Amino acid sequence: MRGVSRSESTSDTPTAALVFAFFMPLFIYPFPFSCYNASMKKFFGKTVFPGVSYGEIAVIRNAESIVRRLPVADPEAEVKRFTSAMAMTKLHLENIFHRVAGELGENNAQIFEAQRLILDDKDFQDSILSIIKEQAVNAEYAIAITRANFTKIFADMDDLYIKERIADLKDLCKRLVRILQNAAEEKRELPQKCIIVTDDLTPSELIRLNHENVAAIIFRHGSINSHASILARAMNIPVILNVPLPEDIAGEIAIVNSQDGYVILSPNDEEIKHAQKLINASIKYAKKLNELKGLPSVTKSGRKIKLLANIGGLKDLESALQNDAEGIGLFRSEFLYMEKNDYPTENEQFSVYKQVTYAMDGKEVIIRTLDIGSDKYLEYLGKASEEIRGIRFSLNHENIFRTQLRAIYRASFYGKIGILIPMVTSPVEVKKVKEIIADIKNDLVSEGVSIGNPRLGIMIETPAAVFIADELAKEVDFFSIGTNDLTQYALAVDCHNADRDIYYNPHHPAIFSMIKLTVRAAKKAGIKVSICGEMAANPDLLPDFLQIGVNELSVLPSLIFPLRKRIRKLD
Ligand code: PEP
Ligand code: MG
Repeated sequence: MRGVSRSESTSDTPTAALVFAFFMPLFIYPFPFSCYNASMKKFFGKTVFPGVSYGEIAVIRNAESIVRRLPVADPEAEVKRFTSAMAMTKLHLENIFHRVAGELGENNAQIFEAQRLILDDKDFQDSILSIIKEQAVNAEYAIAITRANFTKIFADMDDLYIKERIADLKDLCKRLVRILQNAAEEKRELPQKCIIVTDDLTPSELIRLNHENVAAIIFRHGSINSHASILARAMNIPVILNVPLPEDIAGEIAIVNSQDGYVILSPNDEEIKHAQKLINASIKYAKKLNELKGLPSVTKSGRKIKLLANIGGLKDLESALQNDAEGIGLFRSEFLYMEKNDYPTENEQFSVYKQVTYAMDGKEVIIRTLDIGSDKYLEYLGKASEEIRGIRFSLNHENIFRTQLRAIYRASFYGKIGILIPMVTSPVEVKKVKEIIADIKNDLVSEGVSIGNPRLGIMIETPAAVFIADELAKEVDFFSIGTNDLTQYALAVDCHNADRDIYYNPHHPAIFSMIKLTVRAAKKAGIKVSICGEMAANPDLLPDFLQIGVNELSVLPSLIFPLRKRIRKLD
């Protein structure tokens, strides 16, 4: 455990600085730092999303389901629960094996065959069964202990092949636990308004949490620029990371003050009273911002900036509407794929896209096609989802892409939709997309399905796309600049790098130059251009954006009013 001084606590990265700036009024209640002794119950970290909250801690270990040791009255019934989960897991693995083998070849499917072999292993099964019976405990706990023991055994082996099975074992045990928890009618819910503490939570794991029950998130590790952090910010709750909390803290009460970058474990009455005071102040501030509802986002000299919302699904829609979004500038459709244990069907996607389009009532909804890969991982696709990203993945898995495009085209009949293609690097990709679209339109029309006329746009988020923006602009109706990936790829900062936050600098002059080049190419071709990466939400950059001719920004719904406030103060 490491005590951290206050000066280390506040991040100097642009994003943290930015979110701090939005909540400046909260600093009228400065935290009485000096009255706290340096006891071990106060821990510092970096702000991901500022706010104050308190509640009971629920620990999610290694980004997995919460496993508790629970005594069971009837171990035989628990054994049955385990054996039926085992049968179900086997079925899942066989289905996935066949699907992946069909789509990606047998080589890639072997991961799932390896998992099935572990599941069939007698020692593995016996270990779980004997823990359940001898200790009269729940199956999830028996699996967790068995997994820990087997991991140690595998790790100690000289055989590289066996060592590599640790990842398969982990995946298998996660699947078993998830199936057990879903199978149990009484779905294991998080405690009411709990504080999640986790080592590392992937975007797909984050998306599966019951958001309503989460009051704050503490990541022990991570990067403020990861997609897990971006997604956590969208939840509008305090989020903090790199907090060196002790291990055994499940069930304890904690205060998370991510605006000042600290966590207090087992707070006393006075500390809770103070936190409550800060919470009340932030509610007051949010109400004040709400007074901007219905007002235009125009500068004093009359320049208008269109403020659009970034959403990840239906759950963000209400917030987009409440915050006066003038449209959806970025619907990250991959989150639909991450919420589930399997690809969403055409009808499932159609239903979501249609609902969003209806709700936006004539305002454009820009749906970005699946952008899987990098840190956005689909568990049911296994390793294949880490291999390539964005449009490359979609063109390599045309059937998945076609399903999505059909759903989008069907929904386009019900409102104004734009299709946005991620990670484009070449006009060849865009031409191929257009061919597929033409084909899909033909199919739908010949099936008698009504369709609309969506605009087609691309993300400019690779340096390659910036430097051929003139050429790309001839192919599409609009550009959307993704500064998150543009920064990562231009500055050679991989999302898995340690110290990513040190090197990831959206304020590097190269990034602004690339934005300028892109805007210039768009203007020359007479197409629209917006910015939808995190940089778009930085109010300090507004004058620069206006100067180069950007007048559409797409940001988290909760950041629309703070931006509008700043726009209205600009000359
Ligand atoms: C970006 O790269 O800036 C962007 C908006 O896309 P992503 O979903 O990858 O953050
Ligand atoms: Mg991106």
